[in-house]
Amino acid sequence: MTNNRLRIAVQKSGRLSKESHLLLRRCGLKFNVDERRLITRVDNLPIDILQVRDDDIPGLVMDGVVDLGIVGENVLEEVELERQAANKACQYQKLKPLDFGRCKLSIALPEEFDYQGLASLQNKRIATTYPYLLKRYLQERDIEFQECLLKGSVEVAPRAGLADGICDLVSTGATLEANGLVETQVIFESQSAIVQSAVTQSDEKQALIDKLMSRINGVIKARESKYIMLHAPKSQLNAIVDLLPGAENPTILPLNDDPSKVAIHAVSSEDLFWDTMEELRELGASSVLVMPIEKMLG
Ligand code: ATP
Ligand code: MG
Repeated sequence: MTNNRLRIAVQKSGRLSKESHLLLRRCGLKFNVDERRLITRVDNLPIDILQVRDDDIPGLVMDGVVDLGIVGENVLEEVELERQAANKACQYQKLKPLDFGRCKLSIALPEEFDYQGLASLQNKRIATTYPYLLKRYLQERDIEFQECLLKGSVEVAPRAGLADGICDLVSTGATLEANGLVETQVIFESQSAIVQSAVTQSDEKQALIDKLMSRINGVIKARESKYIMLHAPKSQLNAIVDLLPGAENPTILPLNDDPSKVAIHAVSSEDLFWDTMEELRELGASSVLVMPIEKMLG
């Protein structure tokens, strides 16, 4: 089976889908998503997007069925451990964390549980969708536990009398609270990542992957950066430039009608927060503009 088009697996519908599509679009890929279809063709590059359940993405990458995948590190590591235990191929290369889909995998217990540290979990039954990550964490700490494997509704297991506690994904904690649970231990911190298959690529495909990764780096760098313009009294120039976060080599321009001031244009590696804006104003800066940057290269 040969396929010259690069294949990228993304989550079909769920928490990572929108951001995954957005990232690929920002990299210049043109496509129309039809959720009912497994494969979406990219119009302007030899790339196919495979839309699948997020749980399937690591396996597709590790088996070399797809070249790239965008998936949560939680799912990636769970599948890696599962496949390791089953002696299946589990190699992949993590190209870049993508800074979305952030969450924690945590142990949570009912409010009334008398928790005195991890030892309190000895021989308790814990409901989870992530048995391998949980086992690794507790085994490394010499805690034995009973497993209650659930693919959904994990958070209701204690109340339903199925388990003493749970190990599940948490982002705001609202779901835990609604079910009378308290987060007691974070066992894994996760975000989405783009991963590449370890199966050898043709030179053309590898070149396309390199090009895509350079664009992804540009998109992420641009997202974290801001373009800042302001007017500054010449006497406070250095103090003002020092306040701009990560702004190297700002451009200094004369102002037509005011010789005591200059305009400063700078790319800042971070957002400019209100506190800094206010400090700038105290130093005499005026007309402060902070603008998003769409693309960055080089
Ligand atoms: P699928 O149908 O693709 O299997 P799913 O229900 O398993 O979907 P989602 O709930 O869409 O998955 O979550 C996908 C990923 O989003 C998670 O594996 C995790 O990496 C990330 N994520 C971020 N925040 C949360 C959260 N609060 N709860 C669950 N997942 C989160
Ligand atoms: Mg899933």
